[in-house]
Formats: sequence, C-alpha cells, structure tokens
Amino acid sequence: MSSYIKLFIQSLFKGLRMYDFIVVGAGFAGSVVAERIANLLDKRVLIIEKRNHIGGNCFDYFNESGILIHKYGPHIFHTIYKDVWNYLSNFTSWIDYKHKVLVLINEKKVPIPFNLNTLYKLFPEPVARKIETKLQKKIGEDKKISILKLKKSDDKDLKLLGDFVYDKVFKNYSLKQWGRGLDELEPAVVERVPVFISRDDRYFQDRFQGIPKHGYTKIFKKMLSHPNIEIKLNTDFKDVLNIDFQKGKIFFKEEEFAGKMIFTGEPDELFNYRFGKLPYRSLKFVFKTIEKEFFQEAAVINYPNDFDYTRITEYKHLTRQKSKFTTFSEEYPQDYDKTVSRKDVPFYPIPYKSNHELYEKYRKLTLKFKNILLLGRLAEYKYLNMDLVIKSALKLFAEGIRNAG
Ligand code: FAD
Ligand code: UDP
Repeated sequence: MSSYIKLFIQSLFKGLRMYDFIVVGAGFAGSVVAERIANLLDKRVLIIEKRNHIGGNCFDYFNESGILIHKYGPHIFHTIYKDVWNYLSNFTSWIDYKHKVLVLINEKKVPIPFNLNTLYKLFPEPVARKIETKLQKKIGEDKKISILKLKKSDDKDLKLLGDFVYDKVFKNYSLKQWGRGLDELEPAVVERVPVFISRDDRYFQDRFQGIPKHGYTKIFKKMLSHPNIEIKLNTDFKDVLNIDFQKGKIFFKEEEFAGKMIFTGEPDELFNYRFGKLPYRSLKFVFKTIEKEFFQEAAVINYPNDFDYTRITEYKHLTRQKSKFTTFSEEYPQDYDKTVSRKDVPFYPIPYKSNHELYEKYRKLTLKFKNILLLGRLAEYKYLNMDLVIKSALKLFAEGIRNAG
C-alpha cells in the first residue's frame, strides 16, 4: 500500500468520529442531502465518491476543443415542481431552453413525441386530416395518450396510427435501448414519451425547464462548498467501510460509525450481492468533434431503425455556446458489467417485476440497520429524472433526517 493511501486512510480513520453523516455518491441525491445537512443542521458530512469528480451522471466539463459537454449524456432540467425549481435556482441561473427532439422515420426527421405536426409530415394530407379529426374527437385537444393504449384503440384508423408509431418509433429503439422487447418492460417506460394531440413540438411540457447557465458541475461545486462538507474522490466505499449485516452496523476497521449513512450507489453492491446481482443497463458514448458551427438541426436526433446507436446529441444546442467547433455524441446501449471498462456505468435500472422483487430484498436488508438510508436513481432502483431525485432527497432530509433527530 502506498504511503499516500496509508496516510489518507489514517486521516479518514482519525476523522471518522468527526463526522455526523456519511454520504456515498456525489450525484444530485448525495449532494442535495449533504448541502441540507451542512447548511440547515450545521452537522459535519463526509462524502465518499468513487469517481474523480462530483456531479454523478450530471457532470459536465469543457473538452479539449473547449466545448462544454455532458460526459454521461444529455441532461435537460425540467420539472412541474416549483419547490424543486426554486431550490435548484439557489445554485444557478438558467438558459431558457425548451428541448426539442427529432426522430428519423422513413428518411424524414420529424418531431417526437409524435404529435399533429409529425402526423402531417408523414401522412398524405387527407389521411392526416381524417386521423386528426378522430384524435381530437376520441382523445381530445392537448391530451396525451400512451402508445400502448393507442395500439388498442377500437377505431380502425387510430389503431393503424398506433401500430405505425409503435413499429416506426418504439419497437426497434426500445430493443436497442433495453436489449429486450417492450412487452418485458413496465408500460411506464414508453409512457415517458406519449403521443400528443397538439402542435407543441417540445419534448417536455413541464412548467419549469432550462439548462444551468454555467453548467451542472458549477451547481455541485456551489452546493458542496461548505466547511461542514468534506469530499473524498477516487474512493470506493468498500475500501474504507465494512457493512456488517450480522451486527447491523457500519465499521471503519474496528471503529463503529454510529451516525447515519446515506447511500446513493447500487444496493446489491452495498450488501455484497448476497441475493444476486441487480441488473442495470449501460451506455457507451462516442464523442466526436468537428470544425463546423453545427452538425445537426436539433440538440437530439433519435434513430430507432437505423444504426447501432439510439440517438445523437449535439451539446452546443443545449448550452448555446459559440465556437467554430462542435461536439456530438453517439449513444450505444449495452448490458452493464462492472468488470469491463466502458460498460461499467449503471445508467438505467431495468424496470420489470423480478428486478423490483430482487430490489425489495435488498431494501428490506437495510431495515436491519438503524442508520442506512437508500436514496437516488441507483439506490431506489427507480427510473428517476433529476427533479424527482432532488425531490426525494429534500423529502428524505425533511422526514428521515431533520425530524428523525
Ligand atoms: P448518480 O448521478 O448516478 O450518482 C451516484 C453517484 O454514486 C455516482 O457519482 C457514483 O460514482 C457514486 N457511487 C456509486 N457507487 C459507489 C461506490 N461503490 N463508492 C463510492 N461512490 C459510488 N434526468 C433529467 O431530469 N433530465 C435529463 O435530460 C436526463 N437525461 C439523462 C440521460 C442519460 C443518458 C441518463 C443515464 C440519465 C439522465 N437523466 C436525466 C437522469 C439523471 O442522470 C439522474 O436522475 C441523476 O443523475 C440521478 O442522480 P443520483 O445522485 O441518484 O445518481
Ligand atoms: N423511446 C422510443 N423511441 C424514441 C424515444 C423513446 O422507443 O424515439 C422509448 C424507449 O423505450 C426509451 C423510453 O421511450 O427508453 C423513454 O424515452 P426517454 O427519451 O425518456 O429516455 P431517456 O432520455 O431517459 O433515455
């Protein structure tokens, strides 16, 4: 063991008694909780993060060509929750950005979610008009309908539309994205992108939407720069903590940690995979930079039926950065494998029944401990957007930490 690591572990050992809370993971889940504890309770927090940076999957940075990119894929902030928006606005101002996505269907790039504009771009006008009339009558103006419901419509034309959208937009994209058919996944996955009876081309209709003016990483820096918060990067929790399920206690060497631990990593890893591995889906991002103002006409273009990637994101559309260079990323879905480099990020929990059942076993194990709290997209095993992670963190702080004493 190098003397540097020894020194670090020794200092952590001595210091552990000084902390009231340990947070594993410096994404939104861990950072929001740490910020609240430090600022509102005036207690000391140690954050343990295995990556060499804060921000979790929302981390952004300037690449070698000076372009601000999202290392783990495109992140657009949107929420219906005013409290979440107000909370985050303490740490950033916003670029007033409304996300629009195109999808390549029959060699045409058309708006998605599939809406009335998409309909008229893909069908001859008389057919589109007939379908629109039925959509307006049977579903209603400005209403959204899940593709799975539309497919089951008892109206022949609407069913035809449902089958068309399912086949052209969802079927192959989802096969690529999840490596399995949609029938194996919870309907909530495709309900994220419903058919929209509207001419509104925005990807999200949430009241609050934007891109942080100076990037996501700056938000995390601001949140975490507090004398009560100490961050250990490049540190896996397993290297410094021992989770003893017989005793229901957390140890550093022989020393018991009696404060609370908020864990935002993978719950199966926390308990040494004793019930088996919880599956996650991973992605490989291939970034390309070219000397051109823009590469494509929208921030994101989806490719359900062509290529091995699902989508291409061009970051300058999001950030409004000016440069003669531009960077875009192709997104290749793949199985998650912790032991293989570039497959080792668990980007998505895979929402289906047996996985939730396995998750429940791990969650119940944490109840044996008085001081472990699971939080965030990985640890709650839920397909959560940033706003819901922040909401969950604020709730955990209010109900599970502040009021729990
Ligand atoms: P994470 O950000 O994953 O943070 C968990 C942290 O824990 C990580 O930093 C990890 O390194 C650390 N950790 C894990 N295990 C250990 C360990 N053993 N020891 C120490 N540290 C550990 N949401 C939106 O609202 N809008 C979007 O546009 C959007 N786009 C997305 C695009 C993609 C491709 C993906 C995958 C997600 C997207 N999301 C989006 C969701 C968003 O990324 C998550 O909601 C958010 O990052 C979850 O925060 P978290 O803190 O729960 O998890
Ligand atoms: N989806 C699809 N085709 C698309 C867009 C989305 O089939 O063009 C499905 C796919 O199953 C995807 C899900 O809808 O995983 C949710 O899409 P979203 O854009 O919310 O995915 P994320 O940005 O979270 O990867």
